[in-house]
Amino acid sequence: MSKRIARAVAVICAVVAALAGAAPAQAAQPRISHVECISACSGGQARGGSLLLVSGQGMGNVFRAIFPGGPQGIRNLRGRAAQASGSAVRVRVPWETVSGTFVLGTRDGVVSEGKALAIAPVPVVSKWSCVASCAPGRAIRPGSLLAVRGVRLQAVRNAIVYNGKGSADDKRARISSQRYGSFRMRVPPGTVTGDFAAREYRRKAPPRRLSVAAAVPVAAPVPGAGNFPVQGVHNFGQAGARFGAGRAGHTHQGQDVLAACGTPLVAAKAGTVRFAGYQSAAGNYIVVTAPDQDQVYMHLQSPARLKEGAVVAQGARLGEVGETGHAQGCHLHFELWSAPGWYVGGKPFDPLPQLRAWDTSR
Ligand SMILES: [Zn+2]
Repeated sequence: MSKRIARAVAVICAVVAALAGAAPAQAAQPRISHVECISACSGGQARGGSLLLVSGQGMGNVFRAIFPGGPQGIRNLRGRAAQASGSAVRVRVPWETVSGTFVLGTRDGVVSEGKALAIAPVPVVSKWSCVASCAPGRAIRPGSLLAVRGVRLQAVRNAIVYNGKGSADDKRARISSQRYGSFRMRVPPGTVTGDFAAREYRRKAPPRRLSVAAAVPVAAPVPGAGNFPVQGVHNFGQAGARFGAGRAGHTHQGQDVLAACGTPLVAAKAGTVRFAGYQSAAGNYIVVTAPDQDQVYMHLQSPARLKEGAVVAQGARLGEVGETGHAQGCHLHFELWSAPGWYVGGKPFDPLPQLRAWDTSR
């Protein structure tokens, strides 16, 4: 190689070296130096639901923490990290976290080295759902059976439902089917919305908020006080036609009355037309307001015969049974709502007792 070529190669190498030096540096890896449980701790130790203050270097870009979960700690649980200062983040420990090492992650995808974290050995309830004797919409009511999930639940003896202030109204809930990660629990009679906690012999799980639905109002049947709305051969269908029956994404808010298309429909009670129109699910429908309840009639064959504001006499013709909107087969979908009425603060209740009373009175 000539001197000239050698010098040219040396220059190129220098340029390459300079470029390499100018390339963006590897994003900084967070380094955890200190972990402190700052709230919802168990004897100063972290547990599911605790808030941690994690300090160290390179915290500016941290947005997430990953904790070990499951009986063997091999399931990844994600917790959100919020900036506390340039050198610390606050992290909520996921409910099902177990002892092991956790890491912090940055938005650039850089992960810290693992940091050991001991989790207090208390039972922890993470989530629950109603599986039997539920209120409409799988809401929880007294008497409901709940499937409860969490960690270290195998030694739980019972659950306490705190109904208010003091201990006089605390109730003990029976539990069954216990495993490490789950048990079943029967909501005691008289339970209202409030905290509950699973209990071992001496230890107690952190209390969680249990929402209990108010009892659905069921109006007493008033024999002879209303007209049966379907003026012809009809029946009340199967379980799916009932009030509270499951539907995709919601529950059935009325009672279906199966009858041939064209069967005359009349007002069950006197009132005023609150709405009359068409909607994609209800089809042609009409809402009649009476002082004590609203009556809703859906899937009419044609637009209702009365307009909004019209005064309706009991037994007045409203239209005919049809299958407009989301209806499978000809039927009246009938709803009753408590005062002050339909989507203005009232609640739907089971119309079947009244329908039956009106039916036998004919
Ligand atoms: Zn219906």
